Amino acid sequence: QTEIPQTNTHTKRLTHLPPLLPPLLSSLTQTSPPPFFQSSQNKPITAAMPEAPKPTQTSNGLTTIAIAEKNKRTLQFIEDVTSNPDDVQTQVLHEILSRNSAVEYLHHRHRLHGATDRRTFKKLLPVISYEDIHPDITRIANGDTSPILCSSPISEFLTSSGTSAGERKLMPTIAEEMERRSLLYSLLMPVMSQFVPGLEKGKGMYFLFIKSESKTPGGLPARPVLTSYYKSSHFKNRPFDPYTNYTSPNETILCPDSYQSMYSQLLCGLCQRTQVLRVGAVFASGFIRAIRFLEKHWQLLCRDIRSGTLDPTVITDPAVREAVLTKVLHRPDPELADFVESECRKDSWQGIITRLWPNTKYVDVIVTGTMSQYIPTLDFYSNGLPLVCTMYASSECYFGVNLNPLCKPSEVAYTLIPTMAYFEFLPVHRNNNNGVSNSISMPKSLNEKERQELVDLADVKLGHEYELVVTTYAGLYRYRVGDVLRVAGFKNRAPQFNFICRKNVVLSIDSDKTDEVELQGAVKNAVDAHLVAFGGSVAEYTSYADTKTTIPGHYVLYWELSVKGTTAIPPSVYEDCCLTVEESLNSVYRQGRVSDKSIGPLEIKIVEQGTFDKLMDYAISLGASINQYKTPRCVKFEPIVELLNSRVEGSYFSPKCPKWVPGHKQWSNNVKN
Ligand code: AMP
Repeated sequence: QTEIPQTNTHTKRLTHLPPLLPPLLSSLTQTSPPPFFQSSQNKPITAAMPEAPKPTQTSNGLTTIAIAEKNKRTLQFIEDVTSNPDDVQTQVLHEILSRNSAVEYLHHRHRLHGATDRRTFKKLLPVISYEDIHPDITRIANGDTSPILCSSPISEFLTSSGTSAGERKLMPTIAEEMERRSLLYSLLMPVMSQFVPGLEKGKGMYFLFIKSESKTPGGLPARPVLTSYYKSSHFKNRPFDPYTNYTSPNETILCPDSYQSMYSQLLCGLCQRTQVLRVGAVFASGFIRAIRFLEKHWQLLCRDIRSGTLDPTVITDPAVREAVLTKVLHRPDPELADFVESECRKDSWQGIITRLWPNTKYVDVIVTGTMSQYIPTLDFYSNGLPLVCTMYASSECYFGVNLNPLCKPSEVAYTLIPTMAYFEFLPVHRNNNNGVSNSISMPKSLNEKERQELVDLADVKLGHEYELVVTTYAGLYRYRVGDVLRVAGFKNRAPQFNFICRKNVVLSIDSDKTDEVELQGAVKNAVDAHLVAFGGSVAEYTSYADTKTTIPGHYVLYWELSVKGTTAIPPSVYEDCCLTVEESLNSVYRQGRVSDKSIGPLEIKIVEQGTFDKLMDYAISLGASINQYKTPRCVKFEPIVELLNSRVEGSYFSPKCPKWVPGHKQWSNNVKN
């Protein structure tokens, strides 16, 4: 057996580059800059601000100069890493490979034998998808602690909203990744403050939530990345920083009951309405859910504000009660209650954000990708405030930030931060789908030619589309994330990317991602279980994520039937079909229906005979090739949705929620919040 080289990269860092894992940026009291805040010439940045602003105090005594100085250093870090992305990427790959050189995957399986250069790495390592490492993941989940993928111990699994065989994918992570994520977060406000000054003088009203978590059979926690972050000391014990000063006390965010969490966060937001300078949630869907909650529950909220108490039947969580009563709801405030009531009573809720939170400068939510469907609703509620997408991240790895946050949603481009991971890009060649379908399919496994097409971060071309492939510190090597990105421009020498879509996904309302194969299987299950007995089958179908007519949005399936039987099909049969489709969809969808209540009941619309012929005629009139035409399994182009809706003969909804339990179906484990 070949000897395993033992390299300690921590001592072998290339000297001309800043260390890749800087300490947290949150320490405003730091007097000398940490080493990574050195300029590309490796000189500490100690010069005074060109024109020193007059020191003014924020509420906790920090001066605006201290904040400005910290912001300046953070922006310099971005300048540095974007100025020589290729060198940084070389170093990142070197670090990842050398510290993991002995792990089973690299050493035994792919015989890298300690090499840390790109050429050998690309020659020996395959480009993989989740299914390729599923057996390794299962071993780790079952308690194998040997270094399979990563030399550092796997601290937990992050459960992705991307699924495999109907269950959330499990992404291994290591303790130090938390710092890398914190680093990305710490870049956001210094960037933002270049465009919107004074944000340190007020608060952010962010609706943030945890989700339930479970344990793998081997005892590792399995939970979504944000749940892991909010429960970590990085978040809970963050030192005071005006940029992470939220209206929601930690206890309200960490409340496992989503109703009490939402209620208390809204209450705290209303009580501190004049201090709020920015509002947001992670995704647009979450923010709209909060407004919807307010629409439903403002009377209860006003009652509590008026009396200065918390209804004990509504808020039962002792930690939430204590935090809200001691930190926010200090006294009865009938004046505020009257005001909120008068605004909420008005017929139109247009501009409700700016009416209730008049100092709000922008709405911080992701509206790229499938979330763009919510832009009109957000514009309505916010009276056209800027919609700001700050970052692009996943369970696998946090990727990048938007350096021009006030741009239009359609122009958002994320700059991948080259220290986060080693990035590669697989070119996407797609057929023009004439706007009829909204999904891009990519080959499942790559042939030799496709493997050779992968390019590095510094080599992507303006205007070209690529699928993102990452190699992470936590043990994913050449892993296909599944996102399609387009190069929109450059920051220094680092590319900036528009998020185009997640490949293969046809339907999404919240964080659910349903692909064509899952949808096909779900339709088949419903037909076999309920329609066949009536001699019925589905001749053609398509689907639509309806976020316009209901809040929360819901899936709509359009079915054109072929019925041989003579007995009329009763409505209850179609309702049963709706439920069977839902039961057949992946666990993220079902969690959205059952636990998060972020997705409404699925609807089946039966359309007249000949509807799908009309749809084909329409696509051909738009330029689709008659020979290559295939019925799109999902539509979003408005005229097509209108065409389908104009031919609906009957519409049926799922009568109840599908089944869902936390954790993977094969684990019989203890679940906790
Ligand atoms: P998860 O692993 O569940 O956190 O999901 C990560 C995925 O969410 C990414 O791979 C993207 O598909 C999507 N996503 C994350 N950030 C953004 C963004 N800023 N814009 C569009 N999609 C995003």
